[in-house]
Amino acid sequence: MPVLRLAIPCPLRSLFDYLPPADLDASTLACLTPGVRLRVDFGRRQLQGYLIEIAAESTLPSTSLRTAQKLVDAEPLVSAGVLQLCLWAADYYQHPLGEVIEAAFTPGLRSGQAHLPPGQPGWRLSQRGKGLPDGALQRSPRQAEALSLLQNTHELATDTFRSKGISSGILRQLEQKGLAERCLLKPSAMPGTPRPGLALNTEQSAALQGILASYGEFNCSLLEGITGSGKTEVYLQLITHCLAQGQQALVLIPEIGLTPQTLARFVERFGSGIAVLHSGLNDTERYAAWEAARTGVARIIVGTRSAIFTSLQQPGLIIVDEEHDGSFKQQDGFRYSARDLAVKRGQLEGATVVLGSATPALETLHNALQGRYQHFHLTQRAGAGELPSMRAIDVRREALQGGLSAALREAIEAALQAGQQVLLFLNRRGYAPALQCHDCGWIAECRACDTRMTVHRRQRRLRCHHCAANLRLPEACPQCHSARLLTNGLGTEQTEDTLQHIFGNWPIHRVDSDSMQGKGAMQALVTQVSDGQPCILLGTQMLTKGHHFPGVSLVAVIDADALLFSADFRGEERMAQLLTQVAGRAGRANDAGQVLVQTHYPDHPLMLAMLTESYAEQARRLLETRRDSGMPPHSRLLLLRTDSPASDTGEKFLGSLRQQAQPKLPEGCRLIGPLPSPLQRRAGKFRNQLLAMAPDVRRAQQLARLLVHYATQLPARSGLNWSIDVDPLDLG
Ligand code: ADP
Ligand code: ZN
Ligand code: ZN
Repeated sequence: MPVLRLAIPCPLRSLFDYLPPADLDASTLACLTPGVRLRVDFGRRQLQGYLIEIAAESTLPSTSLRTAQKLVDAEPLVSAGVLQLCLWAADYYQHPLGEVIEAAFTPGLRSGQAHLPPGQPGWRLSQRGKGLPDGALQRSPRQAEALSLLQNTHELATDTFRSKGISSGILRQLEQKGLAERCLLKPSAMPGTPRPGLALNTEQSAALQGILASYGEFNCSLLEGITGSGKTEVYLQLITHCLAQGQQALVLIPEIGLTPQTLARFVERFGSGIAVLHSGLNDTERYAAWEAARTGVARIIVGTRSAIFTSLQQPGLIIVDEEHDGSFKQQDGFRYSARDLAVKRGQLEGATVVLGSATPALETLHNALQGRYQHFHLTQRAGAGELPSMRAIDVRREALQGGLSAALREAIEAALQAGQQVLLFLNRRGYAPALQCHDCGWIAECRACDTRMTVHRRQRRLRCHHCAANLRLPEACPQCHSARLLTNGLGTEQTEDTLQHIFGNWPIHRVDSDSMQGKGAMQALVTQVSDGQPCILLGTQMLTKGHHFPGVSLVAVIDADALLFSADFRGEERMAQLLTQVAGRAGRANDAGQVLVQTHYPDHPLMLAMLTESYAEQARRLLETRRDSGMPPHSRLLLLRTDSPASDTGEKFLGSLRQQAQPKLPEGCRLIGPLPSPLQRRAGKFRNQLLAMAPDVRRAQQLARLLVHYATQLPARSGLNWSIDVDPLDLG
């Protein structure tokens, strides 16, 4: 008796053998393809498993084998390419395969929902309905109305009936009379001919031609182009080529907030046939987009991180826009990098991969410089506008108002008076990062985390930015009952107050995750600001991500010092990326624009570098520094993290792990730790980590397997969770 070897979503890193469901005949069994879903008993629960292979016999005695309950799909719903990608990713990231495969399904299908054939539910006339004379059904006007709609349109979606006030009850009455019947409407049409693109400049042409030269087989290119250099135009023309080959294009973008603008440009060029996948969709929308991609109805799929697991019928092109962006890395559970998986997927499916950025990650740049990727440069702004000039404002001994120096206030005033828009960057939301008692020194700290509570004045609350904790803003010190509570430091709410006070005659828009709640908020803002009228935009990192504000001529970084001193080895890279991206928002229209950077350290080497070097120059210099220190991309990292309710459990666990693994380390590998994590207590848990370094990817993989092997062997400890992060982005 053959056995079905399944991946089941659970923390165990093995496959599970089951006997085929009792009602499955031998011929169906013989045709089963990996990827089909099966319902199985697992422990005391019923779970959904995914077929990985059919084995001739099990390693377990057949008496101890359970029988699978039911075959859910006759055919796998994920493509062979995506299933292969999942197998590869589970191994590379050392994550349980069942949980990895789940990423390739929609939430409904994950929980066992049957696959619905594509198409929207609708109604059409039956044979009898077609033969009905005009003016029938006079005594039931609603039914007559529904019938006449069907006579005019042949078939119509249930939703459309509903929007015209015709309930499904009325349609069921027609069904009972044998006049109408249910049907599934054909999915919407393929896109028409794309609108013609812009005439490319020399650099854009070189990139397009260079990438197309090897189109049709796997190939990866880095498109390194300054902000506004016309990368998107190159993407659009690549997609045009891809569609002309009858293939589909997958475009990954960082954030949901970005979708409206990017999408608008795609729709303008290609019309319909675009599916969008991001976390803001409801289940029905997600399923529709997923199904359209899988069946080939959608020719262009635009999505955030998880869209990398979308099955495609004819994948031809994968684009990762703003490839340096941290949101491509999943930070919990299955910790994958969608950017890196895009490259792998291209390799598995023979697709062309393009990674684009104004500020490429050092890993990507390294690959390009080593010749593993093709490398194209766009060094000029494509449309109107020049790159702005950057200047530091020395704020030492300055009387700051809401964080703004006199020089900055004057510059803002001048820009507004000249009818221009201003963008101010402050990467801290809330009113102030700390609340302190002036009389006894008490500071409001989170009870569950090693951190201070942030003051949110608008909501009159103290909030922890590391857990869900929040409480009413106290009116008196809980320790000495003094009413003299002071805030320390600066957040966007506070600067907004100051701006209201000084520039209250102009519109001021605060843009952070508190003010931009709800789906349409960002889109509404972008629309409002696009009229070009003078205004001030004040915001966090949210503002720096790809949005185009053509009317902005002055950009200012309110507190650059917050970026200067980072404990993370990627601190300098991040600062250079962030400042370059912020600066890139300026001067997109006709004026060159200027960027002002407030700092107490105008002579700091990093600050000087920011002011005098391009990102391209800084990045190449940083790569040299990384070589000297042996850090990625000149080595590979793995991070084992633990959390536990007791303070010493994690350290003991990682200590034993280290002891066992140490003698077996592949050559050139090192373990560092166990150490407390930078924020040791978070949400009530104590966190520890063991950092592992390997000289190259092959040995990093050996090391990952070794560590996971020993970690799973170690005796369970109460309340302890551990996880492995391969190529961690954050060492916290
Ligand atoms: P990026 O994606 O590099 O930030 P975009 O593709 O958004 O740059 O281009 C910036 C601006 O330049 C856009 O307004 C775009 O329409 C315009 N643009 C791009 N390519 C060209 C071109 N070849 N000729 C004229 N304008 C262009
Ligand atoms: Zn006090
Ligand atoms: Zn907290």
